[in-house]
Amino acid sequence: MCWADGIWGGPRADPLALQTLRAVILRRIAFGDTSWILHVHAQEEGRLSLLARGARRPQSPLAGSVDPLTLAEFVVSAKPGRDLQTLTQAVCLDPRSGLHKDLAAMAAAMVCAETVLRLSGEGQAHPGLFAVLESALSSLDRDGFRPAILWAFLGRFSDEMGWAMAVDHCPACGSEEIRHPRVLSLAHGGFLCGPCGSRSHQGALADRIARALEDSAHGLEPAGDPWTRPEIDRIEDLWFEHILRHSHMRPRLESRQFLAEVRA
Ligand SMILES: [Zn+2]
Repeated sequence: MCWADGIWGGPRADPLALQTLRAVILRRIAFGDTSWILHVHAQEEGRLSLLARGARRPQSPLAGSVDPLTLAEFVVSAKPGRDLQTLTQAVCLDPRSGLHKDLAAMAAAMVCAETVLRLSGEGQAHPGLFAVLESALSSLDRDGFRPAILWAFLGRFSDEMGWAMAVDHCPACGSEEIRHPRVLSLAHGGFLCGPCGSRSHQGALADRIARALEDSAHGLEPAGDPWTRPEIDRIEDLWFEHILRHSHMRPRLESRQFLAEVRA
């Protein structure tokens, strides 16, 4: 952080900090007639809200560098203790042009961004989470939509949030003897062992579903293409059910509905 009160000078100047941030734009909301409020996840600072004053004017130097899902370098004039910081400069580092050619990839990228926006905390640095988001958006931008990119993101996101799905030990008793075929307990947060699985009333998972959850819980993109639509829906639903149970919040993720519609 670069404290710049000397530069701004004068005894009446407030202490202003100019800070350079590398950030993904999660969402933007129109503010007044000409401005945007940006909700971003910054590598250095975590989730932040920035005021891009005048950025909706075509001649604004900020216009073109404040699009949702892009990666940008921002210079922020930060006043300590204020919720909304002011954006003074923006340089787009990655416009994600590929997302504009593939509507499903765009929708999946929006799901990743909305998951981070709604389910991660504000105002604390979380570089691991930034890396997980940036990796998923880059893959979707480069490769187009594959459901496995989204599942790997959800597995890594859970891990970063401290909500990893237990796939190598029973979350009820700690045993490493996982039952086959695998029984998932969302209440416990993972695959049960033989005795715990027998006591639960859960049915066994189809093997392809279980392996997809296991791979993505390890942060890997599950192999197994082509996936059927019911498999895709089931794996995604189980991941979100797992995440929402741990987050203790149940926001409606509107981008999930959008993704369901565009790949129908
Ligand atoms: Zn057990």
